[in-house]
Amino acid sequence: MSSLQEMKALFAPKSIAVIGASVKDGSIGNTVVKNLIESGFAGAIYPINPKAPDILGIKAYASVKDVPGEVDIAVFCVPAHIVLGAARECAEKKVKGYVVITSGFSEVGHEGAELEKQLVEIAKSSGGRVIGPNIVGVLLNESKANASFAPSLPYPGKTALISQSGALLISLDMATFVRQFGASSMVSLGNMSDVDFADCIDFYAHDENTNCVSLYIEGVKDGRRFIESGRKAGKPIVALKSGVSAHGAAAAASHTGSLAGSVKVYDAAFKQAHVIRARDLDELLDRSQALALQPPMTGKNICVITNGGGIGVLASDSAEAYGVPLATVPKDLQEEFKKCMPDFGSAKNPVDITGGAGLKGYEDAIAVALKSDWVDGLAVLYCETAVTQPDEIAEGVMRAIAATGVKDKPIVACFVGGVKCIAAGKKLTAAGIPFYENPDKAMSALSALRQAAIFQAEGIQDDYVPAKDVDQATARAVIAEARADGRNVLTEPEAKKVFAAYGLPVGKSQVATSEDMAVEFAQEIGYPLVMKIVSPQIIHKSDAGGVKVNIKDEAGVRAAYKTILANAKAYNADANIHGILLQSMAPMGKEVIVGSVNDPQFGPTVMFGLGGIFVEVLKDVTFRVAPFSSKTAMDMFPEIKSYQILQGTRGEKRLDQEALSVIVSRISQLVTELSDEIAETDANPIMLYPEGQGLAVVDARIILKKK
Ligand code: ADP
Ligand code: MG
Repeated sequence: MSSLQEMKALFAPKSIAVIGASVKDGSIGNTVVKNLIESGFAGAIYPINPKAPDILGIKAYASVKDVPGEVDIAVFCVPAHIVLGAARECAEKKVKGYVVITSGFSEVGHEGAELEKQLVEIAKSSGGRVIGPNIVGVLLNESKANASFAPSLPYPGKTALISQSGALLISLDMATFVRQFGASSMVSLGNMSDVDFADCIDFYAHDENTNCVSLYIEGVKDGRRFIESGRKAGKPIVALKSGVSAHGAAAAASHTGSLAGSVKVYDAAFKQAHVIRARDLDELLDRSQALALQPPMTGKNICVITNGGGIGVLASDSAEAYGVPLATVPKDLQEEFKKCMPDFGSAKNPVDITGGAGLKGYEDAIAVALKSDWVDGLAVLYCETAVTQPDEIAEGVMRAIAATGVKDKPIVACFVGGVKCIAAGKKLTAAGIPFYENPDKAMSALSALRQAAIFQAEGIQDDYVPAKDVDQATARAVIAEARADGRNVLTEPEAKKVFAAYGLPVGKSQVATSEDMAVEFAQEIGYPLVMKIVSPQIIHKSDAGGVKVNIKDEAGVRAAYKTILANAKAYNADANIHGILLQSMAPMGKEVIVGSVNDPQFGPTVMFGLGGIFVEVLKDVTFRVAPFSSKTAMDMFPEIKSYQILQGTRGEKRLDQEALSVIVSRISQLVTELSDEIAETDANPIMLYPEGQGLAVVDARIILKKK
């Protein structure tokens, strides 16, 4: 069976056994059976209990093996120590899905983790899949199966909500009724011993009842599979990630290592997975609702229609903050809008039809906006007034939208006021127009629809093509030599050889082991030059007084040679000194840093930032999971706060971002192809020159994986 078919048995079951079904009111085993009956599950329900002949009026069986028909899923409500025995019977019965509510597995420590592993092995031995353990269950609106201990199925709709936290899922379940936010299913993933986010995304990408997949994530299991599933889903995915400071930033020898907190790596991975972010629970639901009900916004022009200047300005501020700033409506369109408002209105955007505007003003303005080619998305804002009725306005808005017949432009509504507005909002949502109670949420929703369109346009395939002119064998030989020497740190000249094998411009350099040799090399390389200590024990060379720049003559070489050696010995008397490195002095450029880490979830991941205080103090950096194209690298640059410096400030020329993007992509290739060996890299600094003048990698660091 394909993974997709396996998931279908889980999420569209025809028969459900409840292992540990109980006659005791209020117990989980009793609640699950009751929930299945009350939610209207049309398939077969098989309570499993060795003692009770029937439970809640349904015939019970002593073992799942006694059940006469097939069993698609078994919901486990028995204590942890009984789960494995019951699972073995399920495996004999060829149960397809194991929904394990029971707690007391990997979340409680080593022994529990062992049990969990065995549970998965048993299920897989006969082709079964496990959800959980440690979950509330699954709530499937299409099958009308509330296979959980949550109070009821969610409000029906088109969002699949997948949550790692069970308690959160239950609370969101209940919240769907307050908002009348519709969910096609709710799945609690718990410990994710087997079924994970990627499996759910794969399934719901193909589910015609689901328009949007909504995730509450604490951590993903297999980061690369997550990215792949998200990208190929071709359906909007929105995620709230919690615990962003908990992992990853382990003590690290490289700059990049210490900067690779999980927040920024997840930021990058979500972009690459085409996952839209939510900052909090509210935004998760706000954005899911819009993505489930409305089409993506294929252009950048939002039109805001409002009866109040205040909420219009607030919407405008929010739009800018969400990266979809409002533009002024073109002149001819302004003329059209002016016909829908009194003289003192404003047709520029926000289109302010004023507080005096009634139903007709809204209907006319909506018709103008939706018919205009310029408008890509529409927000209808309304402040409750004494001269209008929220209910009538809502009806009018729905009528006007329906009359235009426009279906490919997203529309959101925001009514600010009292209970009448909330009631009107429910009608709008029911009619497929997502409703928000403040303009910020409406703009957050539209920006998510814009992002969905951008992801859609990027397509499923990443455009990465590995460079062919690389010499992996040489890179591996350098690494093997360091390994043979018992090291996991490459010296700068070694790291530069690896970089050079992947086509990075590292310049000329030589290692001298005597003063005279240094003088000889200096003549070959030419002045001015730079001299540096070479020692595996001295990773940060400047800290040890191990770098001298701008050396202009032989006397300088001799002096630097002595000073560097003395400094290094004073810094670390035990350091094994390979010699002194001489290299040509690169002309001054803008110092940038490109590095990589091997993230525990996502694997090789590349970082970019500006050098010096930008990276060390401001931590102004951005990441992408490797490998990726130079086009993707170009997308990274505007993400740093100091981007303007790359663009050229105060009369300086724009820097050679194109050359840099090629190097960043090549580093992503290097760390991917050698991911079995390399833990971290740093090209710090790279001297970046003005447009057309390229760059020079002046320092290189590679830390190998511990073996
Ligand atoms: P480390 O980072 O180990 O302290 P670097 O090799 O980065 O040592 O050298 C320290 C600084 O010296 C660099 O940040 C850079 O400003 C300058 N530098 C090093 N090598 C060169 C070079 N070849 N050309 C120009 N400047 C250099
Ligand atoms: Mg350096």
